[in-house]
Amino acid sequence: MTAMMEMPRVQECTVTGCSYNHDGCRAFAITIGSLNHAHCDTFVESPLKGGIDTLVAQVGACKRDDCRHNLELECRAPAITVAAGQDMADCMTYEPTTI
Ligand code: SF4
Repeated sequence: MTAMMEMPRVQECTVTGCSYNHDGCRAFAITIGSLNHAHCDTFVESPLKGGIDTLVAQVGACKRDDCRHNLELECRAPAITVAAGQDMADCMTYEPTTI
């Protein structure tokens, strides 16, 4: 039997314009990271409602290998928050290792 690792939860998302946000992020799992910043790659503006009301989203993958919480392109933070930053929806828990 394979041990399940807990993925970090999206504790708070204030991006109300996203289809997955209805009283918090309701996507099953999100992906963080674009080439130049910690953008939420799952963010989508659409008339469709996304996700499942009873779920709290988790971070499925993160491409920001320069973040101190990132190990092997997976987030190891206990939880993250998402809000408008450089872009409409960014990971606010991102901490560059090079400061
Ligand atoms: S805290 Fe760092 S590793 Fe975790 S999702 Fe945000 S940018 Fe990625």
